[in-house]
Amino acid sequence: MILTDYSKNLMPFLADLEPDEAGPDLKEVSRRYEIPQEMIAVLSRNENPYGPSPMVWEALKDVPLNRYPDSRPFLEALSNYTGYPEQDMVTGAGMDEIITTIVRLFLGPGDKALIPVPTYNLYALATRLCGALPVYRPRLPDFDVEPNVPGEIKMIFLCSPNNPTGNSLSERSVREIAESTNGIVFLDEAYAEFAENGLLRLVRDYDNLVVGRTLSKAFGLAGMRLGYAVAPEWIAEQYRRIAPLFSISSLSLAAGVAALQDPRYMKESVGKIVGERERMRSMIEAFPSEGNFLYFQTRERSSLVAERLLGQGIVVRDCSTFPGAGKHCLRVSVGTPEQNDRFLDAYACGWRAQKF
Ligand code: PMP
Repeated sequence: MILTDYSKNLMPFLADLEPDEAGPDLKEVSRRYEIPQEMIAVLSRNENPYGPSPMVWEALKDVPLNRYPDSRPFLEALSNYTGYPEQDMVTGAGMDEIITTIVRLFLGPGDKALIPVPTYNLYALATRLCGALPVYRPRLPDFDVEPNVPGEIKMIFLCSPNNPTGNSLSERSVREIAESTNGIVFLDEAYAEFAENGLLRLVRDYDNLVVGRTLSKAFGLAGMRLGYAVAPEWIAEQYRRIAPLFSISSLSLAAGVAALQDPRYMKESVGKIVGERERMRSMIEAFPSEGNFLYFQTRERSSLVAERLLGQGIVVRDCSTFPGAGKHCLRVSVGTPEQNDRFLDAYACGWRAQKF
């Protein structure tokens, strides 16, 4: 028998990508540390512990599952929520799909994308999926980004509030960056609802600025995979040409419409999370944050501290897998008051006793 090496067909520029981690397997954690699975506090994915508006469950009942999905009602609801016309908006199965789709409009083999780090890891992966090269640039000590953009850069990824550092970018920084480049600026505002101010309005002023948003965080719908972006009309038009038509399921679309119709519920849950965020921040001396998470330094290696917390049934994010974050930072999502207390007891007590 002739053995054929079919792996030769793999695209060479994809061969050295690391698989991303979906977080620890809770069954395994439960077994290893003898903690009932329902007692494990997952504070590693910046999810919303309160879930979506009760109106969402009502809306799921009558969705026709034999038909292909129609995203127009969702787009209309988004248009009401953002104040932008439908032709300036695009939707996707989570903002992740929007990011991995939009890069295909602008990046090809050998192109360069500027990524101020540490930040959300998907920008680098999406860049590399196109055969393009991520150019990492360290953030300033307060995690702000430098405004000048090298000439050969075709895309710039900004994130505000930034995951994992929690800081927002100023309007001036984003304007300076959009004006100092011939490339496309993607501004990720996944956590905008937890922040004082968003910068969505800047899309009106620039033909090279796209702002991405999601219903995964403030609206509590991470499992439904609902993302959108507001873009200059010419980019939205190009995007619709290449994006998959039916990537958001009918159930998700119905959930999205219902959640957007209940902004009061969303604001209440954001209010609770922001209150808890500030309470936790003062106790662990974390960096200021405008997201639903806190970023903080550890005396010991962050991987060791994260493992020790895991042993007490608390999952946090070890940031050593974020390029540019070093080996001494953790990120903890704001959970329910009970979950936060468990984290604070486990972490802050060890920290005061100089254990961490
Ligand atoms: N952007 C940032 C900064 C994020 O942290 C995340 C999720 N962790 C996303 C985008 C992805 O959002 P979605 O769930 O809509 O794909």
